[in-house]
Amino acid sequence: MRRIVLLVALSLLLAPISPAVAVSNDGPRYDVRLGADASGVTWTGRERVTFTNTSAGTLSEVYLRLWGNAWDGCNSSPVRVSHFAGGTPGTASVACTALPVALTQPVAPGKQISIAFDLSITAPDRAEKFGRSGDYSFFGNALPVLAIHDQAGWHLEPDVGIGESYYAAAADFAVRLDHPAAVQVPATGTESGGVITAKQVRDFAWAAGPFEHSEVTSPGGVKVRTWWTSVVTAGAVATARTGAVAAVDDFGRRFGTYPYGELDLVLNDKWAAFSGMEYPGFVLLVAPPYGESAAVHEVAHQWWYGIVGNNEYADPWLDESFATYSADLFAGDAKPGCWPGSVVTSITNSMAYWKAHPTSYGTYVYTYGACMLHDLDRLIGGPAMATLLKTYALTHWYGIATPAAFKQAAQSATAIDLTSFWSGHSIG
Ligand SMILES: [Zn+2]
Repeated sequence: MRRIVLLVALSLLLAPISPAVAVSNDGPRYDVRLGADASGVTWTGRERVTFTNTSAGTLSEVYLRLWGNAWDGCNSSPVRVSHFAGGTPGTASVACTALPVALTQPVAPGKQISIAFDLSITAPDRAEKFGRSGDYSFFGNALPVLAIHDQAGWHLEPDVGIGESYYAAAADFAVRLDHPAAVQVPATGTESGGVITAKQVRDFAWAAGPFEHSEVTSPGGVKVRTWWTSVVTAGAVATARTGAVAAVDDFGRRFGTYPYGELDLVLNDKWAAFSGMEYPGFVLLVAPPYGESAAVHEVAHQWWYGIVGNNEYADPWLDESFATYSADLFAGDAKPGCWPGSVVTSITNSMAYWKAHPTSYGTYVYTYGACMLHDLDRLIGGPAMATLLKTYALTHWYGIATPAAFKQAAQSATAIDLTSFWSGHSIG
């Protein structure tokens, strides 16, 4: 995502990734059925979350992340849950985005359990990823998902308001979205027989409204569906679509074939605080003026954050620097000489730091982070860099990558000792 406004902070515990709420092939499963009101602004129904305790100890509670409540804290809570089965909700914390649920039956290691709850989601009246713009409603980070638990405990990072906060395991979703025929509903996943299925994705997003839409299939076989609000021009639609179609194939060749079959682009003329926001198989874009460049950047996030997961709050560079660098690769721009030489801080800071230093965030995490990768490319050579990225992606496919894992992968790709490279590029 590329965001313009900033906000919060909290300390973050870093630890080896061995989540109790499973990552990788044993991830959670979400079964959801929601029905819309006449305009698609409010959705109500029920959600069931099934997961396996992959930790060594008994699990007696889980946390749901209600990210949709972050904006107004506990004042409005546009995402509401009630009537729990399998657990008892406690008091929400972290601006009402973290809800503990005490499990009715503590779950032993290796065992599977489900919790279920009624759900009501109303898009707030603001032009945001979870919000409304005219007759159109958008549900990004609106569906409750499980927090990750590992040796550091529960990951309950705050929403800093610039998109980089989320951390979730790849999961399977089966979602039924019942809605009036006049309301179009682009969404993560693929729909068949009224059920939208999305496998090995970290989130599920959708939108609702009287969208116009088109569908093309990329030469590589990815179905790209473009949806746009009435204020978006035909030229802007074509520009974004062309960029996304080319990018999804190009990145597939570079990093591993796009696995989801379908990609939905949702275009509006503006959002309050971003020009593009990525979700699995689904991206929100401003078009115009950003058009192709935003589309390519957000498509790159399908790999860097989506397929190859990371803790966005702890390590925003692992997705934003990589998405920016990937877009440069797509454009054939090697950015010679772009590393500034001396820097006052590290590109690897967490969002706690960038929240406190918002004017440096874009320069360091996007621009300088991509410059570092270009310099690494120049140092180890194009073929080694290409092998590194593909190997790194496949190693962490549907899993979680860490800074240490990337550094190790890079070192494994070259006979050159990278110690001075890392220190020369502000990476500890
Ligand atoms: Zn981004």
